[in-house]
Amino acid sequence: MVPRAVAVVGFKNAGKTKVVEALVGELTRRGLRVGTLKHASRTHLLDTPGKDTMRHREAGAVASAILTSEGAAVFLSHPIPVEEAVARLGPVDIVVLEGFKSLDTVARIVVPRDAGEVEELANGLEIVVTGPAAENLPDAGIPVVPLTRVEELADIIEVKAFPLLPGLDCGGCGYESCGDLARAILAGEAKMEKCVNRSAGAVRLRVDGRALALKPFVQKAVRNVVLGMVRTLKGGEDPRRVEVAFDVGGEEDG
Ligand code: SF4
Repeated sequence: MVPRAVAVVGFKNAGKTKVVEALVGELTRRGLRVGTLKHASRTHLLDTPGKDTMRHREAGAVASAILTSEGAAVFLSHPIPVEEAVARLGPVDIVVLEGFKSLDTVARIVVPRDAGEVEELANGLEIVVTGPAAENLPDAGIPVVPLTRVEELADIIEVKAFPLLPGLDCGGCGYESCGDLARAILAGEAKMEKCVNRSAGAVRLRVDGRALALKPFVQKAVRNVVLGMVRTLKGGEDPRRVEVAFDVGGEEDG
């Protein structure tokens, strides 16, 4: 199940992290399992100099991980798509993204430093304006809810947030781009199920970490073949979710 998502967007020092903290607290209090995802500048240091994981990567490892009895962290020396990062958060109900101003596949919460920034940060997916500066802002067609009313903010998110769209822009939903479907969903003109890569039972293909679009008839064929095979296996008679992954090379042509 793909979790719902919402992005908290704003320029530097607007108070985005304060908003994320408040929302995570409120949504968690409501019994939801919340994941977060932060976008940072290229220069942001991810690991701590001198720590073993950083030394491993400085020695040439392209990825390193640290596991403890209480948690784990993975450090990669390459960027990954937002969708893949969300998948790595595990079974969460909702993901709150911080940053990602250019992402147009998710509903957004606008955190401006002043009234002039609201329009700059709007892309048709804004559902509410909030943050430290929101107290003094006029209503600009989007609800303005100060952070002191975090319950109201969480209510809006619970009603409006939808799962992150795949960002494949394949046109399978009848819209030119995922962003166009996202705007139609928020406007109440379309349902999430329009996305042929997100609807119930959709087959998702990932090649070298990158999601690729599959036509509905190809999805159906893959699903039938894989399910037919799985159901003949001991333990696979009544599957709820099937994952298939393999490395290419060596014997694949044999
Ligand atoms: S079908 Fe899904 S992946 Fe393709 S453009 Fe529409 S929303 Fe995007």
